Amino acid sequence: MPKCNNKDCESCVYGTPQQGGANSLRVDTCCGCQGLADCNTDLGQVWTAICAPTCVVPCVDAHEGQHRYDLSSCCSLVPKCIAYYTKNPLYTDGRSARYYCQAVYDEWFSRNRRWMECRAYRSGLDCAQKWIKAHTCACGTPINPDKCCNEMCNFRALQYSGYYDFCPGVSPLGPIPCKCPFNNDGSVSHRCEK
Ligand SMILES: [Zn+2]
Repeated sequence: MPKCNNKDCESCVYGTPQQGGANSLRVDTCCGCQGLADCNTDLGQVWTAICAPTCVVPCVDAHEGQHRYDLSSCCSLVPKCIAYYTKNPLYTDGRSARYYCQAVYDEWFSRNRRWMECRAYRSGLDCAQKWIKAHTCACGTPINPDKCCNEMCNFRALQYSGYYDFCPGVSPLGPIPCKCPFNNDGSVSHRCEK
C-alpha cells in the first residue's frame, strides 16, 4: 500500500491498488482520508473505502457515493477498451492495451476532477446539513455536549472548504466537461488531455 500525504486525499486515491467493487470500512489504509473512491480498471468496477468509523459515515458515503455514480459508467468500459486494443494493437501509440486504456481513462478523470469533486462535496454538504438540522445540533457553540453533533459540524466545515476549493468556475449540474472517451465496443473516440 503506497504511503501518501495525509493532506492530499486525491494522491491517496491515485495509484492505490484495491480489489474492485466493495464499499468497505477500511480504517487503517486510508492515509488519513475519510473516504476514497476509484476505478479498478481491470474489473471495470468502482470501489470505495469509507475510512472513518464515526457518526459521519453516512455523509462520507454521500460524498463517495457521488464519485461512484460519476465514475461508474466510464470505468465499466475500461476492460472493453483493453480487450479491443489487445485485438487491435496498431492504435495504441506503441504501448500495451492496458497502459493505453489506463492513460486514456486517467486523462478523462483528471480533466473532470474539479467537476467531480465539486459534485461530491456538494453531496456531502447536503447530507451534513440535513443531519445537523434533523438532530438540532448547535454548531459553533464553544462546547457542544453531543459527540456526534461535534463530528458532523466538523465534517460540514470540511465539506464547505472542499466546496469552495473545487466549485468556483464549475457547473455541478451541467454536463461533464469531457465526455467518457470510450465507445461501447471499447474503442477510443477522443482524448481528454488538456
Ligand atoms: Zn472526493
